Amino acid sequence: MEKEKKRQISLQRAEELKGRIEDFLEARKSISTGISKEDVLKERKNRILHIYSATEEDWNDYRWQLKNRITDVESLSRILSVSEKEKQLIRKVGEKFRWAVSPYYLSLADPDDSFDPIRLMSVPNYKELEDSCTDLDPMAEEYTNPAGCITRRYPDRLIINVTNECAMYCRHCQRRRNIGEQDVHNSRDKIAESIHYIRENEEIRDVLITGGDALTLSDQQLEWIISQLKEIPHVDYIRLGSRIPVTMPQRITKELCDMLKKYHPIYLNTHFNHPMEITEESKAACERLADAGIVLGNQAVLLNGINNDKFVMRVLNHELLKCRVRPYYIFHAKHVQGTTHFNTSIEDGIEIMEYLRGYTSGMAIPTFIVNAPKGQGKTPIFPNYIISRGPGYVKFRTWEGNVVKYEDHETKDIHELL
Ligand SMILES: *Cc1c(COP(=O)(O)O)cnc(C)c1O
Repeated sequence: MEKEKKRQISLQRAEELKGRIEDFLEARKSISTGISKEDVLKERKNRILHIYSATEEDWNDYRWQLKNRITDVESLSRILSVSEKEKQLIRKVGEKFRWAVSPYYLSLADPDDSFDPIRLMSVPNYKELEDSCTDLDPMAEEYTNPAGCITRRYPDRLIINVTNECAMYCRHCQRRRNIGEQDVHNSRDKIAESIHYIRENEEIRDVLITGGDALTLSDQQLEWIISQLKEIPHVDYIRLGSRIPVTMPQRITKELCDMLKKYHPIYLNTHFNHPMEITEESKAACERLADAGIVLGNQAVLLNGINNDKFVMRVLNHELLKCRVRPYYIFHAKHVQGTTHFNTSIEDGIEIMEYLRGYTSGMAIPTFIVNAPKGQGKTPIFPNYIISRGPGYVKFRTWEGNVVKYEDHETKDIHELL
């Protein structure tokens, strides 16, 4: 084919591809991120600093953020508008389920929007009490604890739950039963017992430190655990699970990063759910970690009214990559008592996956996971691509929905071929 003809076809295809992204470009205009709203967030921060007679320096100090976590209705109503009725209900929920929000995280919420995603994720709702679901442990984690504070569900890796404390108690928390009413770090003995178990079981090559939130431990406590794991020859690397880069990014200090980088390889999976959580501050926290050589991933939870939208998820994943965080998982929310108003259908997750593959970079595509009941494990769920299979062929569809019949042959033994 002559050159000009090829170019004409390419131009035509490029036009077609432009058509495939128009709806997203239009929708993106109305999806705010913490970075596009930077000016508004600055104003809100200054308002909160004024209320607390605090300084910019206080704000940037995680100890100030922790100490001033909002845990009662009076403080809450100085920052967000809360009706009298709602105040009563929040108090009632608070008697049963602990809540706490850092001033930083609360500053991301629109004070006047009762459906604001930040507010829904952080402020108690009466629905938490009016829930017919009675299951608190759908993954049967309490039956997968062979020693210390370990959860073991897979052949080569396990979790050490070091604490039940978090910087913020997510209203959608799937481990709500552990939150209780008090912060409890697991005892040194229990952690030592867990490390002992790992030392004795040579097939464990991947250790995940989480909780609660691994970064609620002090640098010293964390270093005590990591340094011991590092000495076990069969442990290949350590993973941290923490939502703190999102809920209290001030905790990601230079000291913390300097400590962690002595123990590479270290991976950290965090938990951004909505583009509004990506702010100059959370981005800077991710950059500090990435600069220290820590590989960052994101585990989002698919939540009704927060991110069960194909375009919101696409924006979230793009923004994450700009912060050097690779989208890792999107979890289907399990049925856990007190959180079922956040549940979506599995269909919502499949639709999101359908509108990622092909439409955007593979880098921006996490795996959609449904946790099988009773701790049977993470199960990936995809849109269907395979349509049929037979002798010598597989019929599948492309991301655009074109059906192709693909010739397929049995693999021959390499020794017979060469
Ligand atoms: C999620 C999880 C892991 C880690 O799973 P990956 O798929 O490797 O990220 C390990 N142990 C338990 C008990 C888990 O729930």
